[in-house]
Amino acid sequence: MRIDILTLFPPLFESVFSKSIIKKAIEKKIVDVKITDIRKFTTDRHKTVDDKAYGGGAGMLMMAPPIVDAIKSVKHKGKSCRVILLSPQGKVFNQQKAKELANLKHIVLVCGHYGGVDERILKFVDEEISIGDYVLTGGEIPAMVVVDAVSRLIPNVVGKVDSVENDSLWDGKLISPMYTRPYDFRGLKVPKILLSGNHKEIEKWKKDNAINNTIKKRPELLRIKNGGQNGKSNKCC
Ligand code: SAM
Repeated sequence: MRIDILTLFPPLFESVFSKSIIKKAIEKKIVDVKITDIRKFTTDRHKTVDDKAYGGGAGMLMMAPPIVDAIKSVKHKGKSCRVILLSPQGKVFNQQKAKELANLKHIVLVCGHYGGVDERILKFVDEEISIGDYVLTGGEIPAMVVVDAVSRLIPNVVGKVDSVENDSLWDGKLISPMYTRPYDFRGLKVPKILLSGNHKEIEKWKKDNAINNTIKKRPELLRIKNGGQNGKSNKCC
């Protein structure tokens, strides 16, 4: 998969992409991440990328021409690609969206900054994605979130042992609680069943406790599964 990131701050990505799973995915050539500096596409000697908003308002807006030229520079003729603007105005990113993007061959992530971007940029992007209902300083951290969540779903990026299918949210709910040594931590003991060696019983415990865990921590996930957030059904499984 090819991932292009368009940003005014390329160095922000260096440490994140040179560690852990993303580093391995890049080294194994499963994911090809390319960072492009939007400022390269300015045409004046001051390399201007932003300006005051028409009609007034606080802050500076990123101008359309350099962003659109940067988008055009990373698109390959005849090849499909999804252009995504990171924006607090977009649909909120979730595991389902990450799965959808992980099936694509090429995505382009456009990072806004300052007061945001000129609205006309939307004519050149396929969708807007938000990483949550809050406002960040720039689209760089959201782009890192999307790259991490998407690349770990691409086959062979995460090893079998930590299979992504065993993670919370893979099937819309949380997984059961997990424990490691010591068995007794300040009087808090690991559930006996997990030490029993009875695989059938352990699997049943995990299944039951995945549901209990979801009901306890994120009950709305089960409502979404059974008819949407505003759906009528409140059944839980
Ligand atoms: N004034 C803009 C608005 O109200 O929609 C917000 C601008 S924000 C300070 C600057 C940039 O950060 C945005 O253009 C976007 O790229 C990024 N950003 C901020 N919050 C985000 C979020 N929750 N999800 C994705 N991107 C976000």
